[in-house]
Amino acid sequence: MILLGSLLHLYSRQCGPFAALRLGRAPRSGARSCSARCRHLRVLVDMDGVLADFEGGFLKKFRARYPEKPYIALEDRRGFWVSEQYGQLRSELSEKAISIWESENFFLELDPIPGAVEAVKQMAELENTDVFICTSPIKKYRYCCYEKYAWVEKHLGQEFLEHIVLTRDKTVISGDLLIDDRPDITGAEPSPSWEHVLFTACHNKHLQLQPPRRRLHSWVEDWRAILDSKRPPRSRAI
Ligand SMILES: [Mg+2]
Repeated sequence: MILLGSLLHLYSRQCGPFAALRLGRAPRSGARSCSARCRHLRVLVDMDGVLADFEGGFLKKFRARYPEKPYIALEDRRGFWVSEQYGQLRSELSEKAISIWESENFFLELDPIPGAVEAVKQMAELENTDVFICTSPIKKYRYCCYEKYAWVEKHLGQEFLEHIVLTRDKTVISGDLLIDDRPDITGAEPSPSWEHVLFTACHNKHLQLQPPRRRLHSWVEDWRAILDSKRPPRSRAI
């Protein structure tokens, strides 16, 4: 009986339905603790610029609030930080830009990136695949955190609320893949367990990535192939 209890405990820790919620270190490559049969691929999907159209939503609201001010068209965006580029255009524009995403309803009213909602729902339905939305709230969090949850519920459904990871440091979250539009993702963990796949956005499309780094250009592209490339050979989708 004790042996059976121990085996059940081992199963639930390594292969059971709550295995995906463990945020510990990923198994070492080649580890035999969990076989290819039950090892789930864990995909972390960023929110702003990957699921929710931060750049488009920002520009629309910036132009509505400051119609007399110059703005940067999406095709001219360079660099991850919107406020930096606006500050370079004219110094007072940096804080005006920040005021847009610190306002109520900014995050809630962002439109989905084309194809994102369908893709993430399909991804979550794949066998042996766990999807988590991994997103960094802004420091002035009054509206942002609530609205990120509300956005997920509105567009992806209530069940996805169980799959949100809010963190300012994505390096400490374990996963196989992180799909994110920010080119440089650093933090407390110098060797994150995930491979960062750069999601193409207006601000990063001009960057030349050094191999083996790779991109997902849009949700129209074959994101399943990227997931499959991380699976053990025998468990790849047919
Ligand atoms: Mg992002």
